[in-house]
Amino acid sequence: MTDQTKPHASRSILDWSIVILLAAILCALLYLAATGKRVDPSQKADAPPHGHEMLNAVLWQKTSAEFEAVTRQLYSLAQGNLKRALQDPEWSAIPNSKANAQLAPTAVVMDLDETVLDNTGYEEYLIVNHTEYSRESFQKWCESGKSSAIPGAAEFIRSTRDAGVEVIFMSARSEAQRACTTASLNRLGITSDGSKNEMLLTGGGEKQPFRDAVAKTHRVLLLVGDNLGDFTEGSLLNVEKRRQIARQYQEFWGKSWIILPNPMYGHWEGAVFAFDYAMPREKKLEQKHKSINSPE
Ligand SMILES: [Mg+2]
Repeated sequence: MTDQTKPHASRSILDWSIVILLAAILCALLYLAATGKRVDPSQKADAPPHGHEMLNAVLWQKTSAEFEAVTRQLYSLAQGNLKRALQDPEWSAIPNSKANAQLAPTAVVMDLDETVLDNTGYEEYLIVNHTEYSRESFQKWCESGKSSAIPGAAEFIRSTRDAGVEVIFMSARSEAQRACTTASLNRLGITSDGSKNEMLLTGGGEKQPFRDAVAKTHRVLLLVGDNLGDFTEGSLLNVEKRRQIARQYQEFWGKSWIILPNPMYGHWEGAVFAFDYAMPREKKLEQKHKSINSPE
C-alpha cells in the first residue's frame, strides 16, 4: 500500500501544484487585462496624440466666442476710460507720478504680443510639433507675417490716435524683430513707422526703465498688456509675491491699467519653475504638477 500510495500521493501533489500555478497565471492575466488600458503619464508612447501643455489655452484663444467677447469688452472699457482720462488732469497710469495736464503729449503704452498681435498660429506650431518656444522659431514666425490682431485692438488704437493721444508700443521683442513686427502691424491696418519713439523693444528685459523714460516725456493715460511686467516691476518674482503685487495695485486695474487674458504663456508660467526656461520640459511639468498639488 505504501509503495502504491506514494506515487499516487506524489501525483496528487503535482496535480494541485499545476492547478495552483494555472490559477496564479489566470489571476495575473485578469489583473493585466484590468489594468492594461490605464494611461501612464510617464510613458510618452501612451500619451494622446499631440498632447501638449498649451492645447486648451490655445484652443480657447483660437476658437472661443468668450475670447472674442472678453478682449472686445476690455478694449471698450479702455476706450471709455481714455475719454475720462482726457477730462481729468490728475489722471495717470504711472503710480506716484505727478500727473500734469500741462505736460504734453499724452500717451497710451501698449504691449504687443497677445495685446495687439495674436500669435495663436505660432502656438499651434508648437503644439503640432510637440515642442517649446525658441528664439529661432519665433523669429521665423515674426518674418512669416502671419500674426492676426487681437479683437478690438486695431479699433482702440485708431480711436486713441484720433483723440490726439500717442500710442507707444512697448514689447519684449528684440531689435532683430523690429522690421517684421512693423510689417505685421501695417499688414493688419495698424499703422506704425517702427521708429524707436513709437516702438520700444526691450529684448526680453524689464520694462520698468522704459516706462520711467516715457513718463518723463509724456503723461501716460493708460497701460495695456497681458503680463504683470507690462504694468509694474516685480513680474519676475515668485508666485505669491506676484499675486501680492496684483493686490497692491487694485485701484489701477480696469481704470488706467487694462490687462488682457493670456492663458498660453507669460511670467505667471515662468514663476512656477523659477524662470529657469532652460529646465527640461519634463521637469517643468513636474513643477507645474507640484504647484497644483500644493496650493498656497
Ligand atoms: Mg504680451
